[in-house]
Amino acid sequence: MKKLYGVIGDPIGHSMSPAMHNDAFETLGINAYYHPFHIKREDLAAAVAGMKAIGVSGFNVTVPHKTAIMPLLDEVDPLAQAIGAVNTVIRSDNRYIGYNTDGEGFIRGLNEEYGKSVLDKHILIIGAGGAARAIYYTLGQQGAKRVDIANRTAEKASQLKERCPYAVETELLALIEAEEKLGDYDIIIQTTSIGMSPGVDKMPLRLANIRPDAFLSDIIYNPAQTALMKEAGLRGARVQNGLRMFAYQGALAFEKWTGVLPDPDRMEKIVQDKLGGKTC
Ligand code: NAP
Repeated sequence: MKKLYGVIGDPIGHSMSPAMHNDAFETLGINAYYHPFHIKREDLAAAVAGMKAIGVSGFNVTVPHKTAIMPLLDEVDPLAQAIGAVNTVIRSDNRYIGYNTDGEGFIRGLNEEYGKSVLDKHILIIGAGGAARAIYYTLGQQGAKRVDIANRTAEKASQLKERCPYAVETELLALIEAEEKLGDYDIIIQTTSIGMSPGVDKMPLRLANIRPDAFLSDIIYNPAQTALMKEAGLRGARVQNGLRMFAYQGALAFEKWTGVLPDPDRMEKIVQDKLGGKTC
């Protein structure tokens, strides 16, 4: 019998996940279908119970349900618990178990593009929101040595550091301090929403002090090349956008459901084509 997977969110019409996962099921000859479910906040508990009752085999969770779903699941993996957000649910013995593949997806994509592991590098994360939390905690879990955080709101960066269950050497910086110290960093990870369409000319900080041998990863993928990436490229740094992270978080979810890791290049290409074929 065909298995049913999906993604729940509100809104959900824009989601790229169905195209990515249905292509992977077809390419790998797996008899399954992935459906976008538009679930409103007030219907979340009923939706999770309903999905269990009708036998949905696993699903992704997107905005605004990533945190609200946690108490509705039978179990939440410790990393997802620390991050405080679930983006992937698997079904095991009729139990729903929540995971977060965003941080691992990001790190896999970054290591690949960087050409080696970044864990012993001096890393700066710009931003302290949900995506930064997933990346920072997963870097911590994997043993990153030194990860500094720069954010507009100092309190949020401070909470991020204090609540991290893994030992990471971290200095907290104001954005202006990070601008001054930028030459210290091998890897700069941009996780704020600044530069996202339609505010495409905006940058979270100036890059006058970036080193030409630094690597800048901006997790935004629309536009494919942010103003920050353009500026970093002009200063000689290597750059990457957020498409690889998106493709890998999906590929890792798919692997949790099926045991097979689909081709992230193919997944990335599908999203890129849906965005209009723009490359960075
Ligand atoms: P979030 O939790 O709302 O966090 C937003 C972050 O941006 C915070 O650090 C916030 O700083 C900062 N920020 C927003 N407006 C700012 C401004 N005008 N000046 C300075 N800082 C500002 O959002 P999120 O879920 O982490 O997502 C952030 C971005 O990552 C979005 O563009 C999202 O599309 C992207 N993303 C990409 C992927 C992927 O797979 N590639 C996955 C997840 C997210 P304060 O703390 O000071 O408010």
